[in-house]
Amino acid sequence: MKTIALVMADLDRDALGAPCTLGADLAAGKPVLRCTLERVSRIADLAGIVLAGPAPHEGRLRELAGPVRLLAVLRTKESSSRRIMRSARAFGRYGWRGGLGGTTVFDETYDPAAAMEVLEQTGAEALLLVAGGAALLDVGWAEAMLKLLREGEGRQPLSFCQAPPGLAGLAIGATTLRGLVAGRQYPGRLLSYRPGGPVADAIHQGFNVPLPDALIATYRRFAADSPRGLWLCGQIVERAGADVDGAAACRIAQSLGAEPWPRELTIELTCRRPLEDDLRPPGDRPDLPVESLAGLLAGLDEPGDVNIMFGGAGDALLHPHWQAAAAAAVKVGVVGVTTYGTGLDDSTIAALLDSPVSIVQVNVDAVGEPAYAAFKRGGSAAQVWAAIERLFERGRAAGREDLMVVPAMLKTPQTLEEQDEFFERSLKTTGWGLFIEPSTAAGQWPDRAVVHMAPPRRSACRRLETRLTVLSDGTITACEEDIHAVRPLGKGSILEAWRAGALAGLRRLHEDRQWDQDALCGKCEEFHRA
Ligand code: SF4
Repeated sequence: MKTIALVMADLDRDALGAPCTLGADLAAGKPVLRCTLERVSRIADLAGIVLAGPAPHEGRLRELAGPVRLLAVLRTKESSSRRIMRSARAFGRYGWRGGLGGTTVFDETYDPAAAMEVLEQTGAEALLLVAGGAALLDVGWAEAMLKLLREGEGRQPLSFCQAPPGLAGLAIGATTLRGLVAGRQYPGRLLSYRPGGPVADAIHQGFNVPLPDALIATYRRFAADSPRGLWLCGQIVERAGADVDGAAACRIAQSLGAEPWPRELTIELTCRRPLEDDLRPPGDRPDLPVESLAGLLAGLDEPGDVNIMFGGAGDALLHPHWQAAAAAAVKVGVVGVTTYGTGLDDSTIAALLDSPVSIVQVNVDAVGEPAYAAFKRGGSAAQVWAAIERLFERGRAAGREDLMVVPAMLKTPQTLEEQDEFFERSLKTTGWGLFIEPSTAAGQWPDRAVVHMAPPRRSACRRLETRLTVLSDGTITACEEDIHAVRPLGKGSILEAWRAGALAGLRRLHEDRQWDQDALCGKCEEFHRA
């Protein structure tokens, strides 16, 4: 089976919009892209490598490739799917799958036009799709994938493994690729749950190269094409050398602790609500002054990959200057808002479509009126669903396919019976929906859970290593559970709070399994959620 590696590289931005580091040194003066290409060139049974990137980057791409032998450097064109993947994958970027719409890491660099061109020009029967930042790609795993694809020739559509992002590519047959292109689909559609045509999960099928669970559970992104990924890969290379394999890279990554920047921020713009909601704890704080965002977010434009959700106690769209807040926040990453949806009138929708907001989470919480009214006074389920549909349709009509509208439902005994209906309606309306487990805010709010999801064995809190919260009075807190700022981390700079002693002390407490000593952590069941 003639297989060509297609390596995608963009020297401006990574696939999710962060500043690109493909030209930065990773190992002994070698740039990231060359490290990736050298790894790919060590994979047995490849008939060649094609490097692809935007036309203006061609010269620099050749320079960065250095002596690595390439079949060609392909010029790619800007495509709208890149913008869509940026939104869809933003909040799932640290796992190989789990993005909105069933998107996977393989979809981030999937370029149908480039793939077709390589098939036509080379007569390849299969492609190995690789991201330019995969400088620590495991050669053995890639060879195992190609072997599986070869052995199942014609019978299996592709071969993959569940390695964390950056450690593996995707092997895909030419027939499958042509089918995806013809159906205007992406590889993740073959690897995700499809309610319309359910099949066994791809991870249990013969085209998955099995990896140990401990490696799969490494919640890091090993793509060295962004400042965060470069930091991670640099730490690994420093400890284990440039030839480190995937398993060792995972083990080292698991021992590293918090990254230099938070991955996600929940920023409460306002506590205002358009209705009374008994499901979520209210707040009694002033609106966040938009001018304070510059100081709060200072320094986070360096990684440029921080997911920001305007959420908290209130409806973000009720902040009088939410558009200015979104404009400030998009400088550091992808921006989402949470809303009850009752205010999604024509002018708010127009403002949303004109803003850099990529994700709108609508807390509808029900399908029918009785379940809606069980916890809410004001608004109706019908009104909110109509608003969801209107926003989705106007977004498509305006060419904003990258605006993800996500109906959300808090899972409670009162809404349990509506779950299937909610999911189906969400899929039909916007393509995806979100179930959220209710939290007690570490014992500060009534327990409304259907079942308790916390694992029986307690572990250090994953959130402490990934995210922070800002309340609308400007107080930074370690997590969303701290709704009354019981242990404030200061005001002013998120980066300073992230790196300061108070948070480090809390992390140490967790490393030492002393979480009971904290006023909230001992009563909290959310420690297992990243
Ligand atoms: S254990 Fe709970 S309260 Fe403590 S930091 Fe984690 S999420 Fe917050």
